[in-house]
Amino acid sequence: MSETERPSDYHRRLPYGERVSAEPLLGGPFFPFEGDLQVVPLDEPVLPEPPRAGEPGGKPCFTCTNPELDAIWGDDQWRLKSGFQQNGLPMVALLVPREHYRLDNLPPELTATLGPMIQRVAGAIRQIEGVGRTHFNRWGDGSEHFHVWFLARPLGMMQLRGAMIAAWDDLLPPVPTEEFQANARTVATALSEQGGVALGLGK
Ligand SMILES: [Zn+2]
Repeated sequence: MSETERPSDYHRRLPYGERVSAEPLLGGPFFPFEGDLQVVPLDEPVLPEPPRAGEPGGKPCFTCTNPELDAIWGDDQWRLKSGFQQNGLPMVALLVPREHYRLDNLPPELTATLGPMIQRVAGAIRQIEGVGRTHFNRWGDGSEHFHVWFLARPLGMMQLRGAMIAAWDDLLPPVPTEEFQANARTVATALSEQGGVALGLGK
C-alpha cells in the first residue's frame, strides 16, 4: 500500500479487512444491542475522499435546490428543517444557514448567531411534552452545506443518552405523522416568539 492510501501512522496501524471485536461496547448502558454481534470488516481509506453533496463533482446541494422543503421556521440567516424522514424520537431537526457555507467559511455574522441559535433550538425542542433534553451534533460528511442535527431525548429514557440516540431514532416505532407535526408546531412557535417566522406548519 502506498503512503497516499494509508496517509498517517494512525492509518498504517489499523487492521484492514479484519473484524475488530464488539466487546468494548457490549453491555454498556448506552449500547442498544446484545447477543452475538459482528463488527463489519474494516475498509481501507478512500483517497481522495469522494465529493460530498454540494462539492464540485458531487451531487447538487439538496439544501440549496430545495430551500423551503420541510422548513418549519426561518429568519434572514437560518432555517430549521424537520419531518424529512420518519422518526422514532419526538423531534429530529436540522439547522442550516440560508446561504451555502461550510463551517470553515461561515461568515462572522453567522458564527456570531450560531451559539444563540443552538440555545434557542434546544430550548424550543424541550417545550415538546415529554422531552428531557435536546442533543445536537455536527457531522458534515454527507452534505457540504453546513448543518447541525438536533435530536430530542425523551424524558427519563436513560438508555437513549449519548451518541447512540441516532440509532434509537431508527429503531423505535415511528412517531405518528400528526403527532410529529404537532411537535414541529410547538418548536416553530417557540422559536418565532424570539424572532423569525414559523413556516409550512399547515401541512
Ligand atoms: Zn447548499
